[in-house]
Amino acid sequence: MTIRATTMSIPATPTPTPPPSPAGEADERFLREALALAEEAAACGEVPVGCVVVHDGVVVGRGRNRREADHDPLAHAELLALRQAAKTLGRWRLSGATLYVTLEPCFMCAGALVNARVDRVVFGAFDPKAGAVGSLADVCRDSRLNHRLVVHSGVLADPCGDMLRRFFRARRDKAKTVAPEDGP
Ligand SMILES: [Zn+2]
Repeated sequence: MTIRATTMSIPATPTPTPPPSPAGEADERFLREALALAEEAAACGEVPVGCVVVHDGVVVGRGRNRREADHDPLAHAELLALRQAAKTLGRWRLSGATLYVTLEPCFMCAGALVNARVDRVVFGAFDPKAGAVGSLADVCRDSRLNHRLVVHSGVLADPCGDMLRRFFRARRDKAKTVAPEDGP
């Protein structure tokens, strides 16, 4: 074997991208669980976003938007679900887990997904105004970061998006003073 010294270089920190896995029936099932949580949020007057974290085929964390109830700008569905998953698994590093969320994660939540070392994220509707997993940025697949996720977008996009549209339409009809662009 001929080694050409000129082509040899010290490899960058090896962070292999996980192999892509197709969104399948199980993904839709878990996203429907997230949708049910989003519905619960809407019933409480919160912007309807729901999320579940799955590990080994089992839901280990659930969350739905609770910003209004908790008076907490950080109470996004994803952060609450990640916290619960970490507690359930007894570790902060959530490798092997997939996070399902009805709406494209924002910058904060996409950053949390990277920090938690989650393997995959599956989301429903894109969020052109705040999404950081394809819309405004692609935090989960940024090669400069030390961890990357497999991303499946647009799974059950219609029911996920419809729920948000219905919520904002109803809110506009109810009180014109509430800014409709006050997204999740
Ligand atoms: Zn978020």
